[in-house]
Amino acid sequence: MYEKIILFVFGTCIGSFLNVCIYRLPKDKSIVFPPSSCPKCNKRIKWYDNIPVLSYIFLKAKCRNCKEPIPFRYPLVEFITGLIFLLLYLKFGISLVYAQFVFLFCLLVVVSFIDIDYHAIPAYMCVLGITVGIIFSFVSSLKVFESGVYDITAMPIYDAILGLLIGLGFTYLFKLFGDVFLSIFLYLRNKQSIEGETESLGLGDVDFVGMVGVFLGWKMAILCFFIAPFLAVAYSIFAIIFKKSHLIPYLPYLSGATLICFMWGPKILNFVF
Ligand SMILES: [Zn+2]
Repeated sequence: MYEKIILFVFGTCIGSFLNVCIYRLPKDKSIVFPPSSCPKCNKRIKWYDNIPVLSYIFLKAKCRNCKEPIPFRYPLVEFITGLIFLLLYLKFGISLVYAQFVFLFCLLVVVSFIDIDYHAIPAYMCVLGITVGIIFSFVSSLKVFESGVYDITAMPIYDAILGLLIGLGFTYLFKLFGDVFLSIFLYLRNKQSIEGETESLGLGDVDFVGMVGVFLGWKMAILCFFIAPFLAVAYSIFAIIFKKSHLIPYLPYLSGATLICFMWGPKILNFVF
């Protein structure tokens, strides 16, 4: 029992660090220095006001100094990260695969929230994911660590590389066709094509699917690619009705689809075929 509580609490602390990454990485700021301060009044945040999830509640969602509201996202990210650490532990125990998927899902949290803010992510983020994923596969291919019996074990290195190549290639082809269709569509409607608007998918999306291929294999990469639009459409309908906005960042849906593939991917494939 204790180890579960400790892992959850540790996860929320890592979540606090992920918040720093989400806020600073797109601005090209260091994630280590300086310590956190309030974005409005610049007052350094004391350690007792920086306790994951709890400080948000104790401070009643306001900066202690200037009463600037603290966005709900901060405790949310901390809580989600705590859950990632706990739930993956229940599935895998402490093992190499545990570390691998904790890394993946933490990265998905960062990527998703940056995409929500900026509609783009720094290009190196998926490259980082791909590199770390391949290193994990390489190490588990060496069978240095005994990983036991799991539904999805770490990919052997050749499956990871195959997943990467098919994930990237498939999505990139899709993007090429999508771009052509989109330009024809815009041309027929006599719309001036504004820079970037003739892009059906961003290169970030292509890299992302390649990354999913490294961690979950090529079948899951393609499945994830096809599940994401359903999630996006469901949310868009909701957003259009309730918020009257139709700007949609795509990576949160790809992340959601990755989670679905991770949990039920093989079952979905069995059901479809
Ligand atoms: Zn403040």
